[in-house]
Amino acid sequence: MNRVEPNVYELSTPGRPSHRFPDLDVPFAELPDKMLRDHLELPELSELEVTRHFVRLSQLNFGIDTAFYPLGSCTMKYNPKVNEDAARLPGFAHTHPLQDTKVLQGNLALMYTLQEWLAEIGGFAGVSLQPAAGAHGELTGILILRAYHQDRGDPDRKKILVPDSAHGTNPATTTMSGLSVIELPSDKRGNVDLEALRTECDDTVAGLMLTNPNTLGLFEEHVEEVIKLVHDCGGLVYGDGANMNALLGVIRPGDLGFDVLHYNLHKTFSTPHGGGGPGSGPLGVSEALLDYLPGPIVDTVEPGDDDLPPLYGLVMPKKTIGRVKAFHGHFGMHVRAFTYIRSYGKSGMRDIADHAVLNANYLLAALRDTYHVPFDRTCMHEFVLEGRFEKAPGVHALDVSKRLMDWGFHPPTNYFPLIVQEALMIEPTETESKATLDAFIEAMKSIAQEAEDHPEQLQTAPHTTAFGRLDEVQAAKELVLCCRPAELSTAET
Ligand SMILES: *Cc1c(COP(=O)(O)O)cnc(C)c1O
Repeated sequence: MNRVEPNVYELSTPGRPSHRFPDLDVPFAELPDKMLRDHLELPELSELEVTRHFVRLSQLNFGIDTAFYPLGSCTMKYNPKVNEDAARLPGFAHTHPLQDTKVLQGNLALMYTLQEWLAEIGGFAGVSLQPAAGAHGELTGILILRAYHQDRGDPDRKKILVPDSAHGTNPATTTMSGLSVIELPSDKRGNVDLEALRTECDDTVAGLMLTNPNTLGLFEEHVEEVIKLVHDCGGLVYGDGANMNALLGVIRPGDLGFDVLHYNLHKTFSTPHGGGGPGSGPLGVSEALLDYLPGPIVDTVEPGDDDLPPLYGLVMPKKTIGRVKAFHGHFGMHVRAFTYIRSYGKSGMRDIADHAVLNANYLLAALRDTYHVPFDRTCMHEFVLEGRFEKAPGVHALDVSKRLMDWGFHPPTNYFPLIVQEALMIEPTETESKATLDAFIEAMKSIAQEAEDHPEQLQTAPHTTAFGRLDEVQAAKELVLCCRPAELSTAET
């Protein structure tokens, strides 16, 4: 089943030219010896062969522009193409971050407005656009919490409480910041266990990291009580905003009492995930934390009037934790998110959340009789099923996912959150039609039936893709990012 795609070196034919230079129209000059390069190990192919090779590889890829991609927690929604048009406008694409801010006023105005909009959407006093992704925003936020406690002369607060349903980046970023993680269990309804929280709340708590809706796709039913408990013992509350798609225009985390929250522009605000990057994870904070934000952030340095727009500049907040990213963060992502928010407008933001929640509940309602639902209540933008069957004990969540590929669907998230056995985490997003959702329901139901009748069909899936089951552990541990001639690759390993 696994076929091997030749790389460009294997396709190479010695002496086959792919380029032709025009005749020299300047005087010939000798290059100094040390600048000469010979024996360049370049593949030799014609332009047509190169084009076919890379276009064929691109067709083996699966993306949101190819088909339904219900990858829970990741919000794989349509990236409107107008975002791309905007990001390619020469005034944005051709600027350099070292240009004088006087000639970057358009870019700064866009960043300033995006900061303001994100602050308004989340209910925060200010926003920094620096962090490059959600996990980077988390680290930045925890560093802000730490700086805040140290500044108040309370440096012994070292505990960050993290629910057991949290994304792995939460404990990872806490550990990187030098603070320690205390795991909180979930209760039977998938909420933070309040008793456990009460027990942990003391004067060593720096803060709590809370994802709401959580990674089970469930709204935290006691969110205000949870936040109050943490505040009452002197801690702050960090919001993991990866699931903001469910809340846009409905509630604002800042109003609920969150002190700091990251936004994933590459999830909620439709910028591409870009094969692991670049993303963007702006951070919103409450009034009390404004001075600690990483900079520079964009501010008005001279107010405008009827005739002149304001003058924007880059400023460092007073007690800033410093820079966390070169230059201004991922500016191209800011342009895309700005375009997205601008084109949907205020009422459009709310429609996004309403339809994301409706689509998820439509799927859940259709599948809850076929699959076991561990925490079965009205879900938000996603939900978690179990990919296991009493009558087919040899079939696992992974097999369901692999079989879905034969139906042309990207698998849901597997084996996360960790508190659910054989987890299948499904997030349809608001951009999918009823017809697509119905086709997915049909696939999921057929697969469940097949698990009982022909389990081997699942266990040996996928059957229709170019590649079968890959050794994902080896692929992750021995990542090969470039291709080289065979002699060179083996010489190095
Ligand atoms: C995606 C995600 C993160 C991390 O965000 P990245 O942008 O991938 O670094 C954190 N928490 C949750 C719940 C997520 O879904």
